[in-house]
Amino acid sequence: MATGIGWGISEPSLSDDDTFPISNLYRAWPALYSAAMSTRVRFAPSPTGKLHVGNVRTALMNVLHARSTGGTFILRIDDTDQERGSAELEQGIRDDLTWLGLHWGETFSQSDRFALYDEAAAVLKEKGLLYPCYDTADELDRQRKLQGVQGKPPIYDRRALELTEEQIAAYEAEGRTPHWRFKLSGKTVIWHDLVRGEQTIETSSISDPVLIRGDGSYLYTLPSVVDDLDAKITHVIRGEDHVTNSGAQIEIFHALGGTEPKFAHTPLLVDKEGGKLSKRLDGLSMRQLREDGYEPMAILSLLAKIGTSDPVEERFTIKQLAEEFSFDKIARSPARFDDDELRMLNAKILHETPYAQVKERLDALGVHGGEAFWLAIRDNVEVVDDAAGWNAAIYAPMAGKIEPEDKPFCDTAAELLGDDADWSELVRKLKDNTDRKGKRLFMPLRLALTGRNHGPQLGPILSLMGAARARARLRGETA
Ligand code: GLU
Repeated sequence: MATGIGWGISEPSLSDDDTFPISNLYRAWPALYSAAMSTRVRFAPSPTGKLHVGNVRTALMNVLHARSTGGTFILRIDDTDQERGSAELEQGIRDDLTWLGLHWGETFSQSDRFALYDEAAAVLKEKGLLYPCYDTADELDRQRKLQGVQGKPPIYDRRALELTEEQIAAYEAEGRTPHWRFKLSGKTVIWHDLVRGEQTIETSSISDPVLIRGDGSYLYTLPSVVDDLDAKITHVIRGEDHVTNSGAQIEIFHALGGTEPKFAHTPLLVDKEGGKLSKRLDGLSMRQLREDGYEPMAILSLLAKIGTSDPVEERFTIKQLAEEFSFDKIARSPARFDDDELRMLNAKILHETPYAQVKERLDALGVHGGEAFWLAIRDNVEVVDDAAGWNAAIYAPMAGKIEPEDKPFCDTAAELLGDDADWSELVRKLKDNTDRKGKRLFMPLRLALTGRNHGPQLGPILSLMGAARARARLRGETA
């Protein structure tokens, strides 16, 4: 994909009195082009940690926008910081996205593209927009403190631009290597954010960002812009912690002769009390949630709906979520992530999950009873693992729980139970032969048969269990 971007070559501008038909065509072309251009979005994680609910929400918003517009979802690995990233974490991210069903159409890694970034840096240097700075961390710190005392904002004072050739030579002789800052215009940058509405950043109020460190490595800012241009990204959808970066990035897009994509900055996630989620993110990694038994669609339904004007409800496919997706629905206030809601959605999804979709996991749990068992108990599980408990309740030897006052009634039930273990017939016979009905009839049977007060409908449970075992349990025997 790294085919060069035509750095610094902007579209020819036409004077107003230009009347050639061809130029009218050209004038109309950008609009036609953007209307016809399909959506291209990217999710750009750094492989420095596990995928958690916060970044999955960003990935999901990108996927939903791509799907709802027939566009392409690109996975970009932001691994310019090679010391901190790891191949294992990168593979983990890919595995987690795959598990969630968030499949990418294209993917690339920034570490393969340094030549392109070098090229862009050269263009910026040539334009005088990327300048070397020799300040040490200590010197910058002192400057900030001084500014604090003077009541000035902590903005880099561009002292590096004043350096004489001799001073530079002296620094170099000392062994200092420069880091490089992008020279902001000092003007106001304005964009229409698809979530936040009109945004303005006064670039005079922020420091010229460092694009290249003293050791020559790239910070995230420049590679991100270069890749967004090169990959023809149409929409940058990311967390609102990147709003300020957008000011500088838009100027870099222009400095490289490009146009910025549309931006959508989504509010961050908070916990259900409105507190920071960051401390808990490890427990909210996809790895952990998967281990805890959560279904991908429960996680995705929750992350798609919280912080939007839609109700938080289960959805069964990403397609459904995409059909309902719109930037207009995303609220500007933080989205509340509540584990209880996740559990509730998980349960609701499982209640309608067909056997084929869980068969492998049930087999791995060593569960018996096949489809009939799953259909009998799925309304009573919150996570698939709960099936093991119900399986044991049906198939593992257990003495029926019988209160002394229910003993004669349960004995009668044991006698009346036919060999075909037909529940409706048993209930009919019990109604005819005893004075019990309603709760007084059903509760002792449930307790004797399953050992629990609540649970699945007894009809299917009874036929799974079979008459012999049921009769024994009704008599209080272990079976
Ligand atoms: N690697 C950046 C991050 O994870 C990407 C930000 C962006 O989407 O531009 O924060």
